[in-house]
Amino acid sequence: METRLFINGRYEEAHGGRRFADIEPGTEAALAEIADAGADDIDRAVAAARAAADHGPWPRMSAEARGKILNRLADEIEKRARDLGLLEARDVGKPVSECVNHDIARAARNIRFFAAQAETWTQEASFGAAKFLGADLRLVNVTARAPLGVGAIIIPWNSPLMLGTWNLGPCLAAGNCCVLKPSELAPLTSIALGEIANAAGLPAGVLNIVPGQGAAGAALVGHPGVDGVAFTGGVATGRRVMAAAAESLKRVTLELGGKSPNLVFADAGLKRAAAGVARSIFRSQGQSCVAGSRLLVERKIAGDFIPLLLDEIGRLKIGDPLDDQTEYGPLISAAHRERVDGFVREARAAGAEILGEPRRDLPERGFYYPPVVLDRVAPDSHAVCEEIFGPVLTVERFDGEDEAIAMANAGRYGLAAYLWTGSAERALRVGERIKTGMVWVNSFFLRDLRTPFGGARQSGLGRQGGRYSLEFWTEPKLICMTYPEDDANG
Ligand code: NAD
Repeated sequence: METRLFINGRYEEAHGGRRFADIEPGTEAALAEIADAGADDIDRAVAAARAAADHGPWPRMSAEARGKILNRLADEIEKRARDLGLLEARDVGKPVSECVNHDIARAARNIRFFAAQAETWTQEASFGAAKFLGADLRLVNVTARAPLGVGAIIIPWNSPLMLGTWNLGPCLAAGNCCVLKPSELAPLTSIALGEIANAAGLPAGVLNIVPGQGAAGAALVGHPGVDGVAFTGGVATGRRVMAAAAESLKRVTLELGGKSPNLVFADAGLKRAAAGVARSIFRSQGQSCVAGSRLLVERKIAGDFIPLLLDEIGRLKIGDPLDDQTEYGPLISAAHRERVDGFVREARAAGAEILGEPRRDLPERGFYYPPVVLDRVAPDSHAVCEEIFGPVLTVERFDGEDEAIAMANAGRYGLAAYLWTGSAERALRVGERIKTGMVWVNSFFLRDLRTPFGGARQSGLGRQGGRYSLEFWTEPKLICMTYPEDDANG
């Protein structure tokens, strides 16, 4: 298991041999001691990326040639899918089946998808006319998309390889070089990407990886050698990243937290909706940016719907994340479990009720926390308004579409919403009025990678996916050429 920084194609220790402990959520024991990047290491990583961007072959290669290498990188990820999935399951606590079948599979697909997007992305040219120095001229305006240069990619701990490649794919496919900063809580699969990049033949310096604390991320954002920052993480950190990037006017894209509502209407297929709602909040133990953490259920069917939902929750297979049958594992850390429990304790003290039989079959070791459904919660309570990022679902009831929409739009987040209804007209009517970046109808998280992914309001800034990502990672550049209206020789 590699635990060091990856700079200019080689693994190396952090300056002064600094290290930090990486704790395994399923066992509560130290899994590895990880090299801890400081400001001097960030300098070296950015210098390597800068040299590769300014003097190396990568930005000047054809998209097709880059695509060949990126596809090999995806092959190498697929070859190691089981090992990477196990490593991610140990590091994050996420069930291994979810890691292998979803996250690692998506990591390879992210890279292939953006390699193909870059190859098929056409640039624009237009003809025009103008008078210049007394002559009638024709113009050819070429709008080229040049790589930005050096990208900083900062990711959270909940889906490291999936989120890392979701950003690396377009950054690299567009011809940039980059520095990837994984979370201090789950850095291992990101670090493994260095060896994978070498196996694929990615030129040295194109991808650099710097595990470290938040300060390493801050040093990266403020670094004068970085041209653009793609940040995925919490709202508070996102605010700091944007403020720091403003100092040097770097462009940023922010993928932040959410408090996404599940709206269940009386005309929904209730059994399917119950399975969908349970999955949307309790998958990854609620540690997902798009977790559907608020249930808004039409009052007249709440009594029928809630037992179906509790039944789904009762069937979740809780256990060791390394067991292929497990659907629900531990939380990322003791501190996070304490934070999640703080929301539940506060809500209960204010009169909230926990619905259903509490799950008592939690393993003894590991940062486990049971799935919780909180009813009778005040609309302005922390449990309803704040992102808990854990397995807690709040229940509110509505009468009719207008009230449902008003409740869904309350609060500061705007990442996703889920509509469960049998009426396509209702889905369109409600979907149009909901202030989120994404609305799923009778499904959860299915998506064509060309479409825009991202949040409205405080859930983010900018969009990722297809051309949206390629546009972020490139600088539009006009090259205007002229030729005379008349053939001087004719
Ligand atoms: P976080 O904001 O604490 O940390 C994210 C990353 O930022 C880490 O690598 C961290 O080391 C780094 N960081 C910390 N301080 C920094 C600073 N001042 N400057 C630069 N980097 C800094 O988030 P987290 O706890 O790791 O992840 C959970 C959050 O991420 C949740 O809010 C979740 O919703 C969000 N998230 C969003 C998406 C999305 O696509 N919208 C996806 C996954 C997770």
